[in-house]
Amino acid sequence: MTCQPTATVSQCAVLVGGLGTRLGALTAATPKPLLPCGDRPFLGWLLREFVRYGVTEFLLLTGHLSGAVENAVAAIQAGLPGDVRITLSQEPVRAGTGGAVFHARHRLHDRFLLCNGDSLFDSNLAALLADAARDPADTVGRILLRRLDDASRYGVVTLEQDRISAFQERPPAGTPGIINGGVYLFRRALVDHLSPQCSLEADVLPALARGNRLRGTLGSGYFRDIGIPEDYQRAQTEIPTLLHRRALFLDRDGVLNIDHGYVGSADRFEWVDGALDAIRHATEAGWHVFIVTNQSGVARGLYDEDAVRGLLAWIADTARLAGGTIDDARYCPFHPEGSVTAYRQAHPWRKPGPGMLLDLIRAWELNPARAVMIGDQESDMRAAADAGIAGYLFPGGNLLSFIQPIVDKYP
Ligand SMILES: [Mg+2]
Repeated sequence: MTCQPTATVSQCAVLVGGLGTRLGALTAATPKPLLPCGDRPFLGWLLREFVRYGVTEFLLLTGHLSGAVENAVAAIQAGLPGDVRITLSQEPVRAGTGGAVFHARHRLHDRFLLCNGDSLFDSNLAALLADAARDPADTVGRILLRRLDDASRYGVVTLEQDRISAFQERPPAGTPGIINGGVYLFRRALVDHLSPQCSLEADVLPALARGNRLRGTLGSGYFRDIGIPEDYQRAQTEIPTLLHRRALFLDRDGVLNIDHGYVGSADRFEWVDGALDAIRHATEAGWHVFIVTNQSGVARGLYDEDAVRGLLAWIADTARLAGGTIDDARYCPFHPEGSVTAYRQAHPWRKPGPGMLLDLIRAWELNPARAVMIGDQESDMRAAADAGIAGYLFPGGNLLSFIQPIVDKYP
């Protein structure tokens, strides 16, 4: 196995302490990120997106109305598709965005994501993760950037290759420009550049740019900041519609990797041609990507569940390093003729049973009519049909060539 940088970042800090003054009465008792958006708080949608890219721990940086955030956490956590931890860090005084991070400094990981709690940028986050994994050691942070045809409402950045060299005032009306998308990946070294009361945008980022310590990745896609009433109004219908995504279910052995039989470790995992490109293509197109895999090797005593989970995590991380993501995965360790007693049973999750697919449909609130399953066995097709999902039998060859027309034909 070759040594490679790890793309996945498991911690995300979220700025939720803003005053929300432009929304008037709406935010008198409710922090902006908790305003309802369809059937859940805006923050619930935001965190769900980060879960798709491997975040398992959220640190909510609170200030104004911290108690309301604390009261909402359990419901938000219960509504998320994965098992995540959500904790709060409350600023002791109005500290600004940089100060909020400063006061949480003892709880930050070596690398962490940071985002605004009142805006959503539907861009492929794996592009940011992949770029950051290859950053030189002296880089402190990387920002997900947006290119606008008219950037006159915002300050803009100067980008040289992928280095952010300066922040500038708003350009004149009609001038195109590159702006901060409000999503960051930082190294813990950021803390050395913070003070108890400071603004990330006005103080810290410009200083980092002057010191050549800041880089950017250009993203694209839907962006909405719910800070003003008209935009919040639009977000309430746009976001639930947008984030009920189409879904690509992938079998593992024989689709993502050459089926060498009971592959239980990365050193025996050989990618199918075009597999990483196929994952990236689906991610870029705004689809969920899931793995559903029978792993009777566990029931046969060839490897254990930790090995299966470890290999799935490695697959997801390798996908992110290649600019795509695996949103989630299900595996079935059972087999009716297994040699390990605990796993010797028929199980509804074992394909051709549809159990794994149905569980993902439930967890991610999917519409089966907007999902497809790619497998290399008839049992995959049976599982798909019984879950109400269109099945496509992969005959081998290049996976991107096979998947691209399927993904692209869905409007
Ligand atoms: Mg297979």
